[in-house]
Amino acid sequence: MRATFCLVGTEVRKYPALVARIVREGHTLCNHTWHHELDLGTKPPAEIKANLEATNREIRKAVPGAKIKFFRHPGGKWTPAAIAVARDLGMISLDWDVDPQDWAKPGAKAVHDRVIGAVRPGSIVLLHDGGGDRSGTLGACPAVLRDLKRRYGITLLR
Ligand SMILES: [Zn+2]
Repeated sequence: MRATFCLVGTEVRKYPALVARIVREGHTLCNHTWHHELDLGTKPPAEIKANLEATNREIRKAVPGAKIKFFRHPGGKWTPAAIAVARDLGMISLDWDVDPQDWAKPGAKAVHDRVIGAVRPGSIVLLHDGGGDRSGTLGACPAVLRDLKRRYGITLLR
């Protein structure tokens, strides 16, 4: 089973061993900006580029030569400039279609029910491991994965 991890540069700097483990276990990497700048896409392209490059550099400090396939703009606040810069840096802009709003801490059962209620073949499910207490998200995952396996088998996004 694989996932895509959207990494914030300042967190990569704090937890390089975790980034190495993500890659070692075969998951996919995604640039999620240097410090989760929600307004990055409104900045001049040179500033966007510097931010995304700094993040990729930090990731590759943790994992030399790491392939960083995707870019996800914080809050989904895409702009044409952000998408273009990411593309120039070889990254596909990654959106999602299932958002259980786990960051608002609705509890494990609600996270589970929202994901399973909304997911369709080909869905990209957004879950968070940062931003405070994530016990609800973690608590939901075993049942979510069990139900997804039962319904579809788990497909890999690579
Ligand atoms: Zn985010």
